Parts: sequence; C-alpha cells; structure tokens
Amino acid sequence: MKPQPVRGMNDVLPEATVIWQYVEGLVRDVLQSYGYREIRLPLLEQTELFRRSIGEVTDIVEKEMYTFLDRNGESLTLRPEGTAGMARAGITNGLLYNQRQKLWTSGPMFRYEKPQKGRYRQFYQIDVEAMGYDGPDVDAELIIMSARIWERLGLSRLRLEINSLGTTESRQQYREVLVAYFEGVRDQLDEDSLRRLEQNPMRILDSKNPDLRAVIEAAPVMLDYLDEESRVHFAELCEILDAAGIDYTVNSRLVRGLDYYTRTVFEWITDALGSQGAVCSGGRYDGLVEKLGGKATPAIGWAMGVERLVSLFEACGGKAPDQNPDVYVVAVGDAALRASFELVETLRDEMPQLKIELNLGGGSFKSQLKRADKSGAMFAAILGADEVAKKELGLKPLRSDGEQLSIPFDKLAAALASQLQQVG
Ligand code: ATP
Ligand code: MG
Repeated sequence: MKPQPVRGMNDVLPEATVIWQYVEGLVRDVLQSYGYREIRLPLLEQTELFRRSIGEVTDIVEKEMYTFLDRNGESLTLRPEGTAGMARAGITNGLLYNQRQKLWTSGPMFRYEKPQKGRYRQFYQIDVEAMGYDGPDVDAELIIMSARIWERLGLSRLRLEINSLGTTESRQQYREVLVAYFEGVRDQLDEDSLRRLEQNPMRILDSKNPDLRAVIEAAPVMLDYLDEESRVHFAELCEILDAAGIDYTVNSRLVRGLDYYTRTVFEWITDALGSQGAVCSGGRYDGLVEKLGGKATPAIGWAMGVERLVSLFEACGGKAPDQNPDVYVVAVGDAALRASFELVETLRDEMPQLKIELNLGGGSFKSQLKRADKSGAMFAAILGADEVAKKELGLKPLRSDGEQLSIPFDKLAAALASQLQQVG
C-alpha cells in the first residue's frame, strides 16, 4: 500500500504551487503597499496561550487543537490560528511599547476538523494585524485593503458581512438578555447549544445546525445593546465604507468563533465554493494583548484561507503566468554536453532572469527534442559535435513555424533577447 499523508493534510504539487505563488505574491504586494511588514512566527506555542486567547468554550480549544507534551512534559500546541502568536510576539519583543505595528504573516495552521473540500487539518493562512490602532479608520482600511486584493486577483462573487460585538461590558449585558431568551426556548436547543448556554451563550448564534435557524433568527440582536462608544465606532466604520463604495450587509448574528473579539467583526463570503464559503474573516480584539500580560493595546486583524482563496481565483477564471523554460538545451554527444555547460552558465550570468533547462541524462537527438517540446520551452538550443567545432548552435523555435537559426556561441544572449522580445 502506498504511504499516505496524515488525514486532512495535503501535498501542494508543483502545478498548484505555480498558482499559490502568484496569488500569495499579489497579496503580499498589496499588503506591503499599505505599509504592512512581514513577521515570521513559530508553528508551536504553549497550549496556555491559545486557551487564554481563543477561549476555553470555543470549537477550536474544545476539540480542534493538536496538543501534546514535549519531552520535557510541557504542553505545546500546533497553532490553530495566527492572532494569538502575533499578540504574544508583540509582547515578547516589546513591539507594542509606545509603538504601533502593522504586521502580516503567513503559513500553515492546524485544526482537527472533519476534512472536506475547503476544510483541512493543515491549511494555510495569510494573517494581517494592526496593533496599537483604536479608530474605525483602521477597521475600514483593513477591509478596503482586502477589497483591493480581490480586485487585483480578479475575484468576484464575494460579499462582505459586518457586525459589532461591543465592549466586554456591553457584551455582558447582552449576554444576560440572550440567556434569558434561550432559557425560554430551551426545549428547542440541541445538546451543543445547551452546554453553551451555561458557558458561552453567544456562541449559540454561530451554530451551524439548521434546526436552530428559526430560534436564532428570533433572538435579541447585539446591535441593540451596544454601548455608546461602540455604536459611534460602528457608525463611523459604515460611513467610511459607504464613502469608499464598499458594499456590505450588517449581519447581527455574526459572532465569529473566537472569544477575543470586541467591536468590529467581519467576514468575506463566497457562494462559489459550496459550503466552505468564508474566505477572509477578522475583527477587533482590543482586550487581547492586555489579557496576555501586555500593556492594553487596541488591535484588529484578518486572516484569509489560502486554499479557499486559490480555489476562488480558479473558479473566477484566474490563471498564473506560466513558468515554462525559455530555452531547452539539447546537447547530443559528450563534446556537446561538456560545451553546453559552459555555454549555459555564461548565459545565466548574462541573463539572470532567463529560464534555461539543460537536457540531463543524455539521449538521442530525437528524444531530447521531444523532451524540449514537452517542457513547454519557447526555444530549443541545439548542439552536436559539428556545432561545437564551429562554435555555433541551432536555435529552433518550438511554439511557432519560424526557421531554425544558426547562432555563434558569443551571440546567443543577444539573439535570445531579440527572439524572446519578438514572441512577446
Ligand atoms: P469556518 O467558518 O469556515 O470554519 P472560521 O471562522 O473557523 O471558518 P477563521 O478561524 O476565522 O475561520 O480563519 C480564517 C480563514 O481561514 C477562514 O475564513 C477560512 O478561509 C480559513 N479556514 C479556517 N479553517 C479552515 C480549514 N480547516 N481549512 C481551510 N481553511 C480554513
Ligand atoms: Mg471553523
């Protein structure tokens, strides 16, 4: 039997990485153009970090974390998301003392979920966090920046939902109203929700059980219980988004799966990927840094799932530029092979951007030419014993009916430059 990867974990093959690199590169360019700088963080953190930040009564902490004891008996967890580590790193490295930070990071996240299309146990995220910023202006800019990413990638079929969860205090008030409501309809709740009713009632709003839809629809609405400051914050965010021409709907049931959110939360959702429709989600977490032992620092961020982003890119007809070689070097016989090395390395010096593939493993002229064609190269550079003697090679266009040209070795770079320019 063939060896298999761990369930829910995927190899990203070269045909796919071409697209991933292109998509990730575009995202990175946009982030950096808004002044976000990259930070790289460990995949492992102390389990306690996630318990304290994400919250005990959440899907992630209750049942999705990869947690183990290391050889020293310390409990470690493979990161299920990026914000906790980002906040931890901000505190550890003193990045938040009288400073503001606009940071991004990317890489794999791990959650023990039920694997299905668009939902994996190892998946990739691009994470953005603005720490030390409290105004609705940064909330708006983060959303506008994501909209720019969609535009650059040519994505459509994405809609934006936003909500405000208020402050910890206003949430407390709302929580009481909500508990009273759900107590009244107790008999209609499922087992999960009954447990949440005791521990974290707002999470019931996030239930994916279709049987609960009506009960949840009729529940009291968070926005009616916002404190004055949060209300103003949210109204200003909406105004900036309106002025910027960003369409959104206010979804008062949007609570997000993590405990650390305050005020603004949002989600970009697509109908193009079946039921795994959340492509980019985020929110404000004004209390998190302080809760983890740092100085009180308002902050907001979002994370996008790269697998879902790439799928949507493809569903919208997106294509990555091809990575085929420009030239495939066909060298027949020992003398030609030896000469081709020098020729190719000189060419790499002269044209560092050129993609050159040298035929490896010998073979007849015919079989090498076949490989050249299969490689997708624009040109074959052909050398045999005669060519080496004359210090000339044959340059054969592979994607058009053009004539094969004879090019002196020392004119190869110039000839290729002009030929490649002609084919565009
Ligand atoms: P969902 O509602 O789909 O479970 P989530 O609310 O758990 O998403 P977040 O924790 O906010 O997601 O993560 C941010 C983004 O990461 C999501 O919008 C999604 O694109 C992606 N994502 C989350 N979990 C997975 C997963 N298991 N596999 C692939 N992508 C994921
Ligand atoms: Mg989830």
